[in-house]
Amino acid sequence: MRSDIQNLIELQKADREILRLKEEIALLPKRVATIEAKLVGTRTTLEKAKAAIKADEALRRKSESAIQDLEVKTNDQYKALMHEIQFAERDIRTNEDAILELMVNAEAREKDIKAAEAELKAETEEIEREKAEALKRTAEDEKQLAEWNRSRDVARAAVNSDLLRHYDRVAKHRGTGISEVREQKCLACQVMLRPQTYNEVRADGALVFCESCQRILYYDTSQAQPVVPVVNSKRRRPHPKFEASQAWYYQPSFQEYGEVLLAFINGDGRSRRRVYDVATGRQIGEICEREGEYRLAFPEDLRETIRLNGNWAESELDEWGTELPMVVLDTLHRDLDMARAEEVSRGHTRSEAVSSEHPAAS
Ligand SMILES: [Zn+2]
Repeated sequence: MRSDIQNLIELQKADREILRLKEEIALLPKRVATIEAKLVGTRTTLEKAKAAIKADEALRRKSESAIQDLEVKTNDQYKALMHEIQFAERDIRTNEDAILELMVNAEAREKDIKAAEAELKAETEEIEREKAEALKRTAEDEKQLAEWNRSRDVARAAVNSDLLRHYDRVAKHRGTGISEVREQKCLACQVMLRPQTYNEVRADGALVFCESCQRILYYDTSQAQPVVPVVNSKRRRPHPKFEASQAWYYQPSFQEYGEVLLAFINGDGRSRRRVYDVATGRQIGEICEREGEYRLAFPEDLRETIRLNGNWAESELDEWGTELPMVVLDTLHRDLDMARAEEVSRGHTRSEAVSSEHPAAS
């Protein structure tokens, strides 16, 4: 059985508990508010912290981005700089190459200069030698000229003045003033003399003019007999040089003309041929000019020829016109006779200066 006390004790216990609880309940909202207030504060702090983190993160990103930018920028600059360095290095190399080339060129130029100087020295010496030779030759020529002038003055002083005038007049017009007569012909113009004139010429001391060319005529008594080659001549005939700028030939059967004299003159890689009748010295045809040295240019003319000694300036040949002067023709005839005599005495054919001789059959 329960006693009241016990119940009362129980009751009192309950009442106290109730009161405590009621008081506690009454206090609860305040505590909640406090807690809530405290929560708000914490939350704010958290949010602040979060915001701060966010801000930091942004800053970091910004910095990173900046670094990245800077890195990119630095990289670009580096590249540009490298590029510039490469350009500069290439320029340096180009300049170095140019300098090297110039040095090599300078060496070659120096060599050229030395060679040219040596050549100039040699040429100068050669020219000096030639000059001295020319001066010596001129002095000799002048001496000979003076001698010839003296002979000429002596000769002219000895000739009758009317005859001298006639001689000068004809010589001025025809190149020569006097002509030999042979086989009743004036050898300069080849005109046959009348028998009476021929006899007059042959008469010693008579003065006769050619009726055709007006030259003074003379008769050489030593020519009265046909020319016989002088085999035992002590004087040796000079032989023409193989290489000469001018060459004369006797040709026994030239084209349809028969016996002629050929004069070839080389010059400037060309050659010119003049043809003269062997008896009259009159020019046959025009001057023929061809490309190349005459031996190569006129091979067909050089068969069966006899090479003669003869050398006159081409300007002289031009001045003679269409007829060789008597003195020239005589010189060539004499040389031809000597060449034939030489050939007879040797008894065989020489290959160059005198080729085999077959007088024209025509
Ligand atoms: Zn005459």
